[in-house]
Amino acid sequence: MSNNFEKGGISVQTEHIFPIIKRWLYSDKEIFLREIVSNASDAVTKLKRLVSLGEVKDEDIINEENYRIDVTLDAALSTITVSDNGIGMSIDEIKRYINQIALSGALDFITKYEGENSSSDNGSGIIGHFGLGFYSAFMVADTVEIKTRSYVKSESAAYWTCSDAGEFEMGEGDKESRGTDIIMHVTEDEKEFLNAYKLKEILDKYCAFMPVPIYFHEVGAEEKHDHGHDCDCEECTCTDKEEKPVNDVSPLWQKPISECTDEEYKEFYKKVFKDYKDPLFHIHINADFPLNFKGILYFPKISHEYENLEGQVKLYYNQVFVADNIKEVIPEYMLLLKGVIDCPELPLNVSRSYLQNSAYVSKVSAHITKKISDKLNSLFNNEREKYEGCWDDIKPFVEYGCMRDEKFYDKTKKAVIYKTVSDEYVTLDEYLERNEKNAGITEKTVYYASSKLQQVNYIRLFKEQNIEVVLLDALIDSQFISFMESKNEGVKFVRIDSELDSALKSEGDKDVAERAEKTLKEVFAKAAGEGVEIVFEALKSEKTPAMVTLSENERRFADMMKMYSRGESSFGGKQGEKLVVNTSSALIGKLLTMCEAGGREETAAKMAKQIYMLAVIAQRPLTSEELEGFVGESVELLESIQ
Ligand code: ADP
Repeated sequence: MSNNFEKGGISVQTEHIFPIIKRWLYSDKEIFLREIVSNASDAVTKLKRLVSLGEVKDEDIINEENYRIDVTLDAALSTITVSDNGIGMSIDEIKRYINQIALSGALDFITKYEGENSSSDNGSGIIGHFGLGFYSAFMVADTVEIKTRSYVKSESAAYWTCSDAGEFEMGEGDKESRGTDIIMHVTEDEKEFLNAYKLKEILDKYCAFMPVPIYFHEVGAEEKHDHGHDCDCEECTCTDKEEKPVNDVSPLWQKPISECTDEEYKEFYKKVFKDYKDPLFHIHINADFPLNFKGILYFPKISHEYENLEGQVKLYYNQVFVADNIKEVIPEYMLLLKGVIDCPELPLNVSRSYLQNSAYVSKVSAHITKKISDKLNSLFNNEREKYEGCWDDIKPFVEYGCMRDEKFYDKTKKAVIYKTVSDEYVTLDEYLERNEKNAGITEKTVYYASSKLQQVNYIRLFKEQNIEVVLLDALIDSQFISFMESKNEGVKFVRIDSELDSALKSEGDKDVAERAEKTLKEVFAKAAGEGVEIVFEALKSEKTPAMVTLSENERRFADMMKMYSRGESSFGGKQGEKLVVNTSSALIGKLLTMCEAGGREETAAKMAKQIYMLAVIAQRPLTSEELEGFVGESVELLESIQ
């Protein structure tokens, strides 16, 4: 091994590369393992290709099961070794691929993007830090050795070693078997990587779907763990000593869609996203040339309203994990989904800003959008019941998507549905048709409730008149309503407590109405206090003495103010409220008679106050002062009963 050793510095221009590598990639050191293992995987893939082309004919090579990568941790020696039985390298190839090209390429890469990197968030200006490859080993190691033997039988084995000062030595080696061992001597500072748990975690994150089986070993602990079970081997009675790779070499997204079963999709989802719940449904994408990418997206089930809606879309490059939730590639609103996208055409060693402007990336994005809306439309058209069953969970995604992406809206608008307060699901058209048929409403008005509980009285009034009310109770709905109005000419969304719809009014007794207006206006104005407008109307429902309404526009404005001021807006309370006194109500009739007769002004005032408060309670939560007053006055009123 020691004869004919060549020595050298890793070229003049690159003498500072090691400090740069260490500094530049500081935040993301763990990717060294991905880089070294994916080089090993590439070496095996290259050999496989040569075999399939008939360029290599060797019995031991042709046996498919023999291809493998071994990652070995030796904590006592402070080494991590990645071995493969791929094509290997000759001495010349090391000179070409390791000493020169890769390194200068890496340097170019660093100098090109260093500036960009420093200005971007958490130092991750480059997607997935691809491009540094082999030299990223120096992020954790002070010395790296290569022991390799080429598949070309006439080549001798090669040995190469290099310190983090950039000084290498190389020459003939003594490796007997084909393939490459990369031995990384981990520095004292990076000792955390000399931990089996940590390494397995990194392998699981980045290498879980690499195409060559990867086996993990820990020197000194093999006895315990090499059969791939998490068990205490002293008591273990298991006879299955078969080695198990840490990865799945053929992930589901690579399989032809027609061959995947529903069970497999669910199992894959649960395993990758560590979710115990089944997903609602999935979309398997297999885009051919020129886009050439594959992926599976899942709509997750949301278990409760306040669950974090953030999804997880994992980006892979030829089965090598790159990063989660890259919004430059996947439209932002789709990050509410969970899924995997494998994009071998993606130029990964470029900056995020490059990706933002890449025509290829926008085509990928558009394709994903189309696939999602196709799926939603197909479910809506062909499996409406299932679609309705999922609606509560997918609603935020669909609404958000429609607002964020015009194209998504255009493709999905027919599948947007609304849940009614009686738990039915209708499209906008169905809704308008039904109200026309059942209640004779010809305007394109959508009546909605924002709370089934708070607005129960109004809901009852609408129900009595056979008018459907939809439930729009999520935070996003207030924006979605305005959005839908802007997209559908003539359509107006009106909250059920915002105005007294003509459908709720009756002719009533004109005489009573006139007398009430004359006699009771003042009484109610006093009861309600300043800022509340008092109007008199005859309602179809006789059971409701009065209602509070708040105009849709004023309320929307108030809601917006609240949102911007995080709920601390002074806008609120009585502002914009209107008290509609129902002249068809028996109670109002009684109050009118009392006031016209005169002499019991105090009782009449108390009654009016109670009627007003009951109307307010049915519309909004009381303020603390109102509540205190109302309880006190109610007690007083009860005490006065003889
Ligand atoms: P890249 O993989 O992007 O080409 P690297 O710096 O990771 O850059 O590697 C440079 C080259 O070294 C590779 O292209 C390959 O030719 C060679 N190489 C690295 N690791 C191995 C390996 N395990 N087996 C064979 N060749 C390798």
